[in-house]
Amino acid sequence: MSNKEGKLYVVATPIGNLADISFRALETLKQVDCIAAEDTRHVRMLLQHYGITNKLLALHQHNEEHAAKSLLTQLQQGQEIALVSDAGTPLVSDPGMPLVKLVKAAGISVIPIPGACALIAALSAAGMPLNRFEFEGFLARTSSARRTFFQQKVDCESTWAFYEASHRILATLEDMAAILPLEREIVIARELTKLHETIIKTPLQEALRRVSEEENMRKGEFVVIVAGAPPAPINQDLSPEHLRVLQLLLNECSMKTAVSLAVEITGARKKILYQTALKLTNAA
Ligand code: SAM
Repeated sequence: MSNKEGKLYVVATPIGNLADISFRALETLKQVDCIAAEDTRHVRMLLQHYGITNKLLALHQHNEEHAAKSLLTQLQQGQEIALVSDAGTPLVSDPGMPLVKLVKAAGISVIPIPGACALIAALSAAGMPLNRFEFEGFLARTSSARRTFFQQKVDCESTWAFYEASHRILATLEDMAAILPLEREIVIARELTKLHETIIKTPLQEALRRVSEEENMRKGEFVVIVAGAPPAPINQDLSPEHLRVLQLLLNECSMKTAVSLAVEITGARKKILYQTALKLTNAA
């Protein structure tokens, strides 16, 4: 057993444009003992581009559990290993979770080398609130399951996003249009960082029209971002006067004190006052 401590580096690689890789990622890919890759042929192209010759091992979803155990043994012997996926950040809708989980449980360092991620790139150019967002990965393959999912998301007040493939983008937007309000704003981010990068921000109805009428809008890789629903109206159970009292108190003191005082002054229920206070503070 070597005295050197093993390390697993989780390395982000480009999502299209080969220049989107950090110096640190390239250094790491050069220096590790081997690179565990989702598709070794795919990553070989990237390595060749940067003149990196290093040992590659396959770690794809079909051999993940088995490969993870053998990589753990190598790490326990003091080796340094880099994990990469075909594109972007490993584990984000990509293999790697069983390996990272196993390695961390064994007390071995897992070091992220950050970089490209289609989700984050799309969100960064969407111009939608990101103080909170929900990522849904890939959606279900059947239309009925997607429609059920959209029913569950229709009132979601934060921005949400998902990944979609070219052969499903039209059907997915059709399902979305059957459930969500047609005026709901969405962003379609297509072929990010590549030659035909297109980012459109339109109401759902217009997005559906463009994707059904323009063949190019159905080609490539997609991130779809959906604006959150407008906030639900402030609780109707409070009279305008009670609402005014609560707002005045919130302007002057902490939420806890404002709610306690409002209970005393208005006689309204604490739970309703508290929920309303939360909405008023989030809306401010
Ligand atoms: N781990 C990757 C990441 O960090 O973005 C995502 C891998 S997932 C298997 C592949 C999906 O990501 C594609 O089907 C597409 O939805 C999205 N994607 C990847 N590259 C993209 C790009 N250049 N433009 C738009 N979407 C992309």
